[in-house]
Amino acid sequence: MLTDLTRVITSNRPRFAYNVTSVEGFGALLDWGETHQKAMVLQCSERYLKDLGEDFFRRLVVPRLDESPVPFVLHLDHAGSLEAVLKGLQIGFSSVMFDGSTKPLNENIALSQQAAKLARMAEVSFEAEVGHVGGAEDGDEEEAALFTRVEDAKAFAEAVPLDFLAVSVGNAHGRYRRPPKIQLDRIADLAAAVSVPLVLHGGTGIPLSDLVEATRRGMAKINLGTELKLAWVAGVQSALAAGETELDRIRAGARQSVTRVIQSMEELLAP
Ligand SMILES: [Zn+2]
Repeated sequence: MLTDLTRVITSNRPRFAYNVTSVEGFGALLDWGETHQKAMVLQCSERYLKDLGEDFFRRLVVPRLDESPVPFVLHLDHAGSLEAVLKGLQIGFSSVMFDGSTKPLNENIALSQQAAKLARMAEVSFEAEVGHVGGAEDGDEEEAALFTRVEDAKAFAEAVPLDFLAVSVGNAHGRYRRPPKIQLDRIADLAAAVSVPLVLHGGTGIPLSDLVEATRRGMAKINLGTELKLAWVAGVQSALAAGETELDRIRAGARQSVTRVIQSMEELLAP
């Protein structure tokens, strides 16, 4: 069944949220959840919503997840406008993120309040971002990060009725050029200042020990997108290197490769 984020992730129950960027990736995530009877968080950015097609989500992903005996969250990642939030709700996403983090704080608060209202009306969970996570969501040019200040997070969380708060603590989207330095103390300070669980975008490439420590300090949702894309590509490449020419076998290689990432990540945060 489709459910919202608050029923799957809490501060005491940190989980990965996986970006759906391919048909094989969706199949791997669905299979994993159903085989292990484990609630999974799937999410999609506007870019891959466009790439895979709205109908892929509306007619296939949403009904398939909803009819499953296992709970799944389908979260809209980084909606950049109120129109995008509305579209996600119409498609049937069970949770949404509005990202106004490139705007000045007051504007971000005002827009996030409106987006939160839309999410509340649809009875789905709501995530917003304060500070700004650098790097383009889907691996484009790097943008400058703006670390989340504790006082901004506090003001934001008091003004916006939200369920999850994405913060910038040394994390970035896409592939890190240098090993990231996650600011664990800032995470602890932010977690103490706001009552909602925190979200770490750009989980790919962060040392696993830092990921685990981040969850101990209050990070509850860790987004993983790039890692699944890299796994898909590696799976295709190794199938090709093995001389496969049939597409079903090449796709199966991609799917197995993605499944291995899911397995190792789920084991990392297994209770
Ligand atoms: Zn993100």
